[in-house]
Amino acid sequence: MTARGRLVVYVGPMFAGKSAHLIAAAKREADVLALKPGFDTRDGSELVSRDGSHLAAVSANAWPADAGRYNHIVLDEGQFWVSPHYSGDIVQDILNARLRGASVTVGGLDTDYRRIPFDVMTRLMDEADEVIVLTARCHICGKPAAWTAKSHETGQLLETGDQELYEARCDAHWSLPDGP
Ligand SMILES: [Zn+2]
Repeated sequence: MTARGRLVVYVGPMFAGKSAHLIAAAKREADVLALKPGFDTRDGSELVSRDGSHLAAVSANAWPADAGRYNHIVLDEGQFWVSPHYSGDIVQDILNARLRGASVTVGGLDTDYRRIPFDVMTRLMDEADEVIVLTARCHICGKPAAWTAKSHETGQLLETGDQELYEARCDAHWSLPDGP
């Protein structure tokens, strides 16, 4: 009987270094499967962090059939692993992998740009063996920032973007975007 693996979840706003932590965690392992959501077409078949580190990754819209061959699974942008972009229940798939002995490291946004929690990330944090909360620097004042703000309203909740669309903000400087 294999020992149960560990689930580690990195959460925080945009620009908090989540991908860099995931990539660093993956590079400590010899036997790792890195996954990115099929929904996120940026950066081809790699996880790329804003500090320049990168890692080969498989785009997935469902749990990969060969995931059982790996002892460590790294999964980025956890908030995107939901219907209609993912078929199945990512939380259950991750818990099954942990049960068979794999260690799973997940990064994602804990809340959206309205400061409303992403349900899938809340569930993963509830199940995690360890939750690591990262902060970014507020775009306005440079203090620690826990929130993601959107520069303009697009009507999309699941939307990839970079500094043209998102900013990290502290509590004092966070606000909802102006209407469309
Ligand atoms: Zn601020």
